Amino acid sequence: MIKLSNVSKVYPNGTKALSDVSVTIPDGDFVFIIGPNGAGKTTLTKLLLGEEKPTTGKIEVNGYDLGKIKKRKIPYFRRTLGFVFQDHRLFPNMTVFDNVAFAMHVIGEPNKLIKQRVWRFLKYVNLENQAYHYPNQLSGGEQRRVALARALVNNPSIVIADEPTSNSDPIMSVEMMELLKKVNDVGKTVIVISHDIKMVKYYNKRVLTLNDGYLADDHKKAGDEDEV
Ligand code: ADP
Repeated sequence: MIKLSNVSKVYPNGTKALSDVSVTIPDGDFVFIIGPNGAGKTTLTKLLLGEEKPTTGKIEVNGYDLGKIKKRKIPYFRRTLGFVFQDHRLFPNMTVFDNVAFAMHVIGEPNKLIKQRVWRFLKYVNLENQAYHYPNQLSGGEQRRVALARALVNNPSIVIADEPTSNSDPIMSVEMMELLKKVNDVGKTVIVISHDIKMVKYYNKRVLTLNDGYLADDHKKAGDEDEV
């Protein structure tokens, strides 16, 4: 679960990036975070990842209080999250297989398990035929799917995707969104940061709108209006 209680973030230069944001995202939710440039989306993401601490307020993710978390506990906390970066951040000198396997190697998983899980997730994102290709031999959409496989391989309960449909053609966008829906269907929380308003409307999920650091709107998906 993700719970922000009156979270504000002021950077050292005095910029107020988030102001008094309170929101709860229960396990298994699918949430879009939208808002214009400078609204605070990246800052919120950094807080969720434990890369930045709130200036005031409390942020809890998967049972960790991220304002107070000890440095040595951060790697354990991070394993509960999968993050798909907008620019993929694949290692150019590693094959697709090794890029995905890397996330398991760093936490010392045994080779046999690594092989099993990497193949499973390459199949999941429909890339088993490209396992021995290098990132520069893949299309942008395929690279993004490798990044998703890498985010999923350690079985996180929350997956955050930053602009997963930017620079994508409509087919690539639908492919990626359908995969994220599939991830959500097995009970994982999915958070998608997006500028793509048409796509956000089409998927009819909960939408958090940030504006100038404030949570301007928390729009439940149609049909859920009566839920508390
Ligand atoms: P978004 O991702 O929605 O574009 P950001 O979270 O990047 O918004 O930015 C929110 C505000 O915080 C902006 O005014 C931005 O200039 C400022 N900001 C972001 N990062 C920093 C930083 N490291 N230091 C100072 N100000 C920052």
